[in-house]
Amino acid sequence: MIIVMKSGSPSAEIEQVSEQIRRWNITAEKCVGQHKVVIGLVGDTAEIDTRQIQNLSPFIEQVIRIKKPFKRASLEFRCGEPSHVVVPTPNGSVTFSQNYPVVVVAGPCSVENEQMIVETAQVVKAAGAQFLRGGAYKPRTSPYAFQGHGESALELLAKAREVTGLGIITEVMDTSDLDKVAEVADVVQIGARNMQNFSLLKKVGAQGKPVLLKRGLSATIEDWLMAAEYILAAGNPNVILCERGIRTFDRQYTRNTLDISAIPVLRSLTHLPIMTDPSHAIGFSEFVPTLAMAAIAAGTDSLMIEVHPNPAKALSDGPQSLTLEGFEQLMQDLAPLGKFFGRWSQNYSTAKSSKLTSPQTFKSVAL
Ligand code: PEP
Ligand code: MN
Repeated sequence: MIIVMKSGSPSAEIEQVSEQIRRWNITAEKCVGQHKVVIGLVGDTAEIDTRQIQNLSPFIEQVIRIKKPFKRASLEFRCGEPSHVVVPTPNGSVTFSQNYPVVVVAGPCSVENEQMIVETAQVVKAAGAQFLRGGAYKPRTSPYAFQGHGESALELLAKAREVTGLGIITEVMDTSDLDKVAEVADVVQIGARNMQNFSLLKKVGAQGKPVLLKRGLSATIEDWLMAAEYILAAGNPNVILCERGIRTFDRQYTRNTLDISAIPVLRSLTHLPIMTDPSHAIGFSEFVPTLAMAAIAAGTDSLMIEVHPNPAKALSDGPQSLTLEGFEQLMQDLAPLGKFFGRWSQNYSTAKSSKLTSPQTFKSVAL
């Protein structure tokens, strides 16, 4: 349930309404929007009659019952305005939000050694990425596959951060590793397979670093938003949702299916920023640029791209990883589209001439 206060309501009146709500053992969270103040109610509101609330103050404009099971993640809860996840990095603060430049996150699936992670970081930074993403703890289908170098890989990520000033995003798989991971990471990633690991969600919700929540392999949009709700309810307001493809029936030509429709649908449901990961969605590097363009056109706030100096030798996810040159080319190709939608940072490199990876994609866009 939300209480929309009339614009210009005195703050003492807003406080008094919130106080009364709390007396009913219901949490009242104030959201100050550009034009209005909304008080979001979380708790057992089923028994409360909306007229009972309306009578609390003549400054109440409207009382609206949120029927959806996610409350804090809902757009209504934040006055219908997008939230800004602002992440401090050595190179300056980066904002993930609607109407901001698309934030580019790039890096290898796994941190393999110092040379490859530092080289990758330098190249992706020069091409315009703001975050380096690399796995220290890897969720693998087979227990015999490379599991990540763990703590020593975290040290290498810290080194790459020091050298380039890029923000670091890396995955936490186990609650017992959270402190170590959060010490190095600027954004803590929850992978698709852990999207409904509720103890992990509560833990990342109780710490201070922003959280990147990847969509579960077969998660509905509601499952996903309810997982985000766990993190928000535990006190962490900085959640970024990442669409990374869902399981469908084709495993031969596509690894997963990028649910492009999730982007506008989420936009209508939630204030949380949206990232798109075309690499895990499609599973093959040759198609990554086309999906990245589609994601920008659909309104994504951020892109995550897997990049490796030598994909053929990668310890994980080689087939979907762009080469360093491939990533530079992608950034050149995305620039006109990003600018067309008003979502491209002035700071992204445009020094090299653009050689389009998929010319057909551009034909339909009037530039
Ligand atoms: C990853 O980001 O490298 C990863 C394992 O992704 P996902 O959790 O989406 O499968
Ligand atoms: Mn990967």
